[in-house]
Amino acid sequence: MEIITAKTAGFCFGVQKAVDLVYELVDKAGSEGSGVIGPIYTYGPIIHNETVVEDLERKGVKVINTPEEIDRIKSGTIVIRSHGVSKELAERAASCGAVCQDATCPFVQRIHRIVEEESDGGAQIIIIGNAGHPEVVGIMGWSSTPAVVIENEEEAESYSGDPEKPVCIVSQTTFNVIKFNELVAILKSRLYNVNVVNTICNATRERQEEARSIASDADVMIVIGGKTSSNSAKLYEICGKECANTFFIQTVDDLHLNLSGKEKVIGITAGASTPKNIIEEVQNYVRTGREF
Ligand code: SF4
Repeated sequence: MEIITAKTAGFCFGVQKAVDLVYELVDKAGSEGSGVIGPIYTYGPIIHNETVVEDLERKGVKVINTPEEIDRIKSGTIVIRSHGVSKELAERAASCGAVCQDATCPFVQRIHRIVEEESDGGAQIIIIGNAGHPEVVGIMGWSSTPAVVIENEEEAESYSGDPEKPVCIVSQTTFNVIKFNELVAILKSRLYNVNVVNTICNATRERQEEARSIASDADVMIVIGGKTSSNSAKLYEICGKECANTFFIQTVDDLHLNLSGKEKVIGITAGASTPKNIIEEVQNYVRTGREF
């Protein structure tokens, strides 16, 4: 039996940078002359991974979730996570009593810039993505006119904006590439003046392509990711289309493989917020049938 683990599994560059920043701030906050002021806050959990978030909480990092909580902070350091936030929230964090450290991924910042410029120029903004996802909520908040979020075929077909008005379509960075193209095709068939900027990030694109390729050869496919991780859910969807025996787990504890002995290939991939040690635990379990 061969076990193939995706090379792209685990932390992407943006998540790694944000997590490293918080650990660095925690280390420095206690030491004199570091210039880092505690306590450390993150706006929302720094990543969709309970193990990492709990570890940071034990080290004193506080998660805040509302603009009102930002206003109440009188000192310390507040970290904006890689998903980014709306323009209004970014300004609020920058002007509250705490020092603001912005860990918004550069790929997300690029979308903010596009949306701000295009909407200022009069374009209707359409975001292909999951309504309610923090990254999408943040992107909406950079549009000077109300942005529309489209997630599926029905929503694309029922879009009722002015067909003559210029439209700018962007994507959530972790959206499914194939689905994005399908939704864009539907919208383009109904609108005249469309500027499409595919803002799905390279890390996501490569991860999805590799997952699809491994799953197409695998007898069993395992996707590791947080319950609330949108990019992991998309990997599960992609792998499920290629391999009927696809499992979505958070940690090795969720994995109950009942192998027949005839399996030749077991594939493993993981979302952008899955730490390396969790991937290794799953690999070890698959290899030996034991948890380490
Ligand atoms: Fe940045 Fe892409 Fe990672 Fe999102 S998935 S944090 S856009 S590298």
